[in-house]
Amino acid sequence: MATKLWKYYPKRLVQTSAKKEDVGLLPTVHNFVGGKFVTSNGPIIHTVTNPATGETLQKVPGTTRQEVDQVMQIAQEAFGSWSTTPIGRRLNYIFQLREGIKKRSKDIAQVITRELGKTPADAQGDVARGLEIVEYSCGAAGKLEGMFQKNVATNVDMMQMREPLGVCLGVCPFNFPAMIPLWMLPMSTVVGNTIVLKPSELVPGAVELIAQVVDEAQFPPGVFNVVQGGKETVDCLLEHPGLKAVSFVGSTPVGRHIYRKASERGIRAQCNMGAKNHAVIMPDAAKDTALNALIGAAFGASGQRCMAISVGVFVGEAGNWISELVKRTQSLVLGTAEGSDLGPLVTEKAKQRVEKLIQSAESQGAKIEYRASVPSSKGNWVGPTIISQVKPHMDVYQQEIFGPVLSCIHVETLDDAIQLINNNPYGNGTSIFTQSGVVARMFQSNIQVGQIGINLPIPVPAPPFGFTGSKDSMWGDLPFYGSTGFEFYTRPKTVITRWDEKVQSAIHTSMPLHR
Ligand code: NAD
Repeated sequence: MATKLWKYYPKRLVQTSAKKEDVGLLPTVHNFVGGKFVTSNGPIIHTVTNPATGETLQKVPGTTRQEVDQVMQIAQEAFGSWSTTPIGRRLNYIFQLREGIKKRSKDIAQVITRELGKTPADAQGDVARGLEIVEYSCGAAGKLEGMFQKNVATNVDMMQMREPLGVCLGVCPFNFPAMIPLWMLPMSTVVGNTIVLKPSELVPGAVELIAQVVDEAQFPPGVFNVVQGGKETVDCLLEHPGLKAVSFVGSTPVGRHIYRKASERGIRAQCNMGAKNHAVIMPDAAKDTALNALIGAAFGASGQRCMAISVGVFVGEAGNWISELVKRTQSLVLGTAEGSDLGPLVTEKAKQRVEKLIQSAESQGAKIEYRASVPSSKGNWVGPTIISQVKPHMDVYQQEIFGPVLSCIHVETLDDAIQLINNNPYGNGTSIFTQSGVVARMFQSNIQVGQIGINLPIPVPAPPFGFTGSKDSMWGDLPFYGSTGFEFYTRPKTVITRWDEKVQSAIHTSMPLHR
């Protein structure tokens, strides 16, 4: 029986007063392997810090190659019986998972706030969005239907079925510590695969708690496994001959590396990657709705969302609305307490990078319209920042910022806005604010971005639809969740049979076939 972490985890959460020098005294985050919580012998690769206060929380080891080999072997062995377990029985485990996550959602959200600095409402949203995919996975039975045709030739019947792949790998980013693991865990396992999940080393706690829920739901050992670590651990997993598929969510350079490595080996990969999302504000837009939506989408989660709006494209006279945008942004409350609007950035390094990009914008000729002051000198705080007169060649436009920074660009026409967006290498999301159906339709027809919002800022598809980012925001042909999610985690197999009555009766002469 696996070690019960749950009982002592809340205690660990309050034991967070260790200083950097005392890192040796901090608890070490666990792997979950073959249904047991174990501590990796690998070197410590990261110390998790509360981004709001700078307190150190726990150490993250890098799982070693030898340990990776062990977990892969356990997951391969578990695949044998899990893949032949009737779908109804597998679904029962997913139902239990759903109940467990629901019951523990507040605890998981608290860990997210502590490790990542999300506001309580945002952290609860993180868990709730993940739960939606668990619930969608509960409908898997209807998604696994095959095809059958009788008599495709004389006495020849044909059937096609979907079968699970084997051991899958999930590599997760820091910014949705619960939602993204929950895109991978239920979808991959319900169809009969086993999975090894590697959470982000920056925020390992939520997945440790999800593993606890899996343990309590009594999933067979080895179906769901967790290894902690960073790049080296991912490479060991990718190189393992037993691996059959990789689901990755994270930055574009890392996603490309993973996609190439998987493709070289002929295993499938789905890689959701970085973004630069534009919102187009037409002069006929409902001003209040458009500006409020822009503020929420640019500064919510401190801009650390792959669907955050980081560029406002103001068309024609809408360019005069920037002072109003600044006025409204001034009311945002920074903090991690209930009721706050945005928290800190995940690490000191992320803060320094965002500050450098803001400075570069100024030195390259843009105008800092607004920069909010921060609540504390401790922690990784960056105040909401609005920059106008941004041009496409500037670093602040060229790079994904992943911070609470909105770049504003002024263009003369809708065509100019569409051209700007289509020239951008990313294709995760975009939106337009207008009261004209004709303008909206022109936009949706001509824009080369995979997810489009019309009068809403963050067009994230609901579970049945699949997450359809494009260009450098998504490599791979089968998007996460939705029916393509089930397709990704299964492969078709075709069986063609000939049962020739004459041949059979010649063999079984004694068998009466006809009256
Ligand atoms: P990241 O690429 O730095 O890390 C993601 C994961 O990859 C982590 O688990 C990390 O340990 C691992 N990793 C890092 N370097 C690696 C390497 N060289 N080789 C193998 N593995 C490596 O991303 P992040 O900073 O954690 O997350 C933020 C990024 O994720 C942003 O670019 C954001 O847009 C993107 N993101 C995209 C989506 C989407 O659906 N498109 C969703 C969330 C986040």
